[in-house]
Amino acid sequence: MTPSPDEQLATMPDDWERALAVVAHPDDMEYGAAAAVAEWTAAGKQVAYVMVTRGEAGIDGLDPAECARVREAEQHASARRVGVDTVEFLGHRDGVIEEGVPLRRDIAAAVRKWRPELVVTINHRESWGGTTWNTPDHRAVGRAVLDAVGDAGNRWIFPEQPVPGGEGKWGGVRWVAVAGSPKATHAVEVREEALGRAVASLAEHRAYIGELSDEPVESYARSFTEWAVGLGAERFGGRKCVAFELYSR
Ligand SMILES: [Zn+2]
Repeated sequence: MTPSPDEQLATMPDDWERALAVVAHPDDMEYGAAAAVAEWTAAGKQVAYVMVTRGEAGIDGLDPAECARVREAEQHASARRVGVDTVEFLGHRDGVIEEGVPLRRDIAAAVRKWRPELVVTINHRESWGGTTWNTPDHRAVGRAVLDAVGDAGNRWIFPEQPVPGGEGKWGGVRWVAVAGSPKATHAVEVREEALGRAVASLAEHRAYIGELSDEPVESYARSFTEWAVGLGAERFGGRKCVAFELYSR
């Protein structure tokens, strides 16, 4: 069911404790979704990040080996700004991620290790809405995430991986939330404090933003984030928010 463009966004569920974000590149979370992460961690929830690549193909003027080192460091700093201390890198090749069983295997392993109730990713659809084509890495990772949460719940799929059990309760992944989707259904309200942390989080990607824009990094990060949290406001009672397409399991 595709919501009509003027249908109101529902409030995202918040009866959960652990989330895992799985995205293709360093910076993918910071271009919008980090503001929701800032709200969640402020409320005491635990969030970890998994980057499928190290973003080594992201800066034209930097050799990939050096670029990977820079972007990994920027991502760790960026995550800390929104209360995320765990960032892991799966080491797939930037720009040519293949959607297939090896990627699903790696994502399923991360899900089994972290035991989240909510998994977050970014837009897996062909476009961002309108005529802006989405990149192959985002499409591949988003689709593989949606598949791999199912894999993670079936102990006969990738049976060589340790399957969670024993300590603590984990009822499996309950939702996958896709940020940046043109088919958003739900939203998380973003208040001023979280907005400020999201801006600081994006601004940590100094080398990457420096390649994209001549604007000072802080003002670039401020104007982008303000714009991003305004996108769903009309469908969310005028409130600034991060909008997600939510899949239940
Ligand atoms: Zn990306």
